[in-house]
Amino acid sequence: MPLWNLRTERRRRTLNRRLRELRLLANGALDTDHPIMAHIIPIRRCNLSCAYCNEYDDHSKPVPLETILHRLELLGRLRTGVITLSGGEPLLHPELDEIICGIRRNHALAGLITNGYLLTAERVRRLNDAGLDYLQISIDNVMPDDVSKKSLKVLDKKLEILAELATFHVNINSVLGGGIRNPEDALVVGKRAMELGFTSTVGIIHDGDGQLRPLAKGEREVFLEMKKFEKKHFSRINYFQEKIANGEPSDWRCRAGSRYLYICENGLVHYCSQQRGFPAKPLEDYTIQDIRREYVTQKSCAPFCTISCVHQISYFDFFRGEQTLTVEPVPEERLVSIQAAGR
Ligand code: SF4
Ligand code: SF4
Repeated sequence: MPLWNLRTERRRRTLNRRLRELRLLANGALDTDHPIMAHIIPIRRCNLSCAYCNEYDDHSKPVPLETILHRLELLGRLRTGVITLSGGEPLLHPELDEIICGIRRNHALAGLITNGYLLTAERVRRLNDAGLDYLQISIDNVMPDDVSKKSLKVLDKKLEILAELATFHVNINSVLGGGIRNPEDALVVGKRAMELGFTSTVGIIHDGDGQLRPLAKGEREVFLEMKKFEKKHFSRINYFQEKIANGEPSDWRCRAGSRYLYICENGLVHYCSQQRGFPAKPLEDYTIQDIRREYVTQKSCAPFCTISCVHQISYFDFFRGEQTLTVEPVPEERLVSIQAAGR
């Protein structure tokens, strides 16, 4: 596609996406009986093996296309606003384009979280054609090491391809904590992302329960630097992270199971990637009654939770919907030890 055509197409797609985002915001604010976001797993397998990750294996088969299209229809019937493909590595699914088309057919915004390794110019064009709205790549360091190979050095060429060809929104997430060796790398990654015209966010790596691993002093300094950097260029809804970075409990109402759903490869609804097993009900049987119950269920893991997408979704209902039921996915003694480590 000639450059001027690509620019026009980008503008058209951005306008179209913004209009659909406005509809999502209005629906989310006016009515609490539907999920705003769902993450769905088309394949659990990953081509990498990051040391901190508990969300992948090296052998699972892709979820069959028919099965995943049916799950998308069920999410559509629940009136889900954004459906994001996660993994494992979603680009390993041989029918990913049809899955993205399936998300769009069900009137949801379509997102993809990938490690970026399998992106090529042809793949990016196909993602454009399928109607992808958002793509996120997490980059953990500048040079690969034994913790993570999601490195700027390896992925920079892929980022250039995206900058040249993608008509969807690209966000680069850098991470802190979890054994990442050089926290300063997050700044290098963030600057490169913005140089290429992408947005940039910073995440804090959690433990196997989605809970905070308190940041060390050097990490906190980089985190604060990144926050200034973010505010300069665009606004991000992640005020909770400042408390988390200081090892302090965050006062919020987690709406997982209600406004946010995590659908595993077996078609079960879980609270989030780190609380698989709660409520673990088949999506097929998930109804508005489940959404209403989980909306008012307080989760014991909330004070030290670092799962930013669920925090962001829960801002929709910050000033309403008191939580009167309780569930304890993370026992109290565990929370006390996290708090002690943060001091
Ligand atoms: S690339 Fe993502 S899914 Fe794969 S091992 Fe690393 S963090 Fe886990
Ligand atoms: S507070 Fe919510 S999002 Fe965070 S770990 Fe618990 S269930 Fe998951």
